[in-house]
Amino acid sequence: MGKPLIFNIQKYSLHDGEGIRTTVFFKGCPLSCSWCHNPESQRFEAELLFHADRCTGCGACSQDCPQKAVSMESLSPPGPALPGKFLPRLDRSLCQGCGTCAAVCPYGAREAAGKEYPLPELIRLLEKDWMFYERSGGGVTLSGGEPLAQDMDYIEELARRLHDLGYSVDIDTCGCVPYEHIRRVLPYTDTFLYDIKLIDPLAHLAHTGVDNRLILENLKALSADGGKIQIRLPLIDGVNATEKHLTDIISFLQDNAINPYRINLLKYHSTGSGKYTRLDRLYQGASMAEPDAQWLHQAGQLFRQSGFQNIQTGG
Ligand code: SF4
Ligand code: SF4
Repeated sequence: MGKPLIFNIQKYSLHDGEGIRTTVFFKGCPLSCSWCHNPESQRFEAELLFHADRCTGCGACSQDCPQKAVSMESLSPPGPALPGKFLPRLDRSLCQGCGTCAAVCPYGAREAAGKEYPLPELIRLLEKDWMFYERSGGGVTLSGGEPLAQDMDYIEELARRLHDLGYSVDIDTCGCVPYEHIRRVLPYTDTFLYDIKLIDPLAHLAHTGVDNRLILENLKALSADGGKIQIRLPLIDGVNATEKHLTDIISFLQDNAINPYRINLLKYHSTGSGKYTRLDRLYQGASMAEPDAQWLHQAGQLFRQSGFQNIQTGG
């Protein structure tokens, strides 16, 4: 397995664990959720996003692409092409996501997603925020994509070094990884932010591309091994914002004596839909919507009435 690629390092993050955190987003995930708002996180390879609205057709990207993946297409009617009436066309089968074109584009119309960071460089970068971690009770969150589906020598070493520096390390995981990967980071992890996307196995398969057996087994094992767990529930009208989904989750947690430190109810939002166009992919979330505030309030009440007191809506 190659070295992990990172597609974003988000500073001052307030919704990925306690306090002010720096969140590192690793590229590549075993799931492909139909509502995913970070589609650039799904594939393990580097990719290019194209912002057509910023492009002037200057052609710099096509001249500098080492793979000859960009050609300039005339937008003019047949006949002699008019100056400035060209648009770059990307052949994604040739593109390596190297980012050369993004570096030369004068208008920020091209954005490369996925960069390797040698560990010392990444740690130096994360250390810059130590004062925020210390003052707010925050730290570093490894997220994605799926951080535990990466080269685990790298991830374990990263978690260990951050832990040894005294920083809180949280891991945001979908849980769809060999349990051994979870076990390797357990000694260095403060809190696992653990997603349950859909409790029904067939619906899980339909909406994420994989069934949820491994995810639920891993959650049981992590709980039995004493991991501190924050359950994250993305709630989407048209997918899983139903009382049955919630009562099935409550039964699963109770039946398996899983006592999460906190449960997050995460409201779906469609803010990532434009990224699909930038990646030449189809957005499947057109029929999805955020659940209404009253329903979310009732969802929180349902968990509280079932004995789960630390319920957080949003973030
Ligand atoms: S990312 Fe690299 S390979 Fe892809 S189009 Fe840009 S310059 Fe070419
Ligand atoms: S370099 Fe940027 S502005 Fe120029 S054609 Fe390419 S994408 Fe468009």
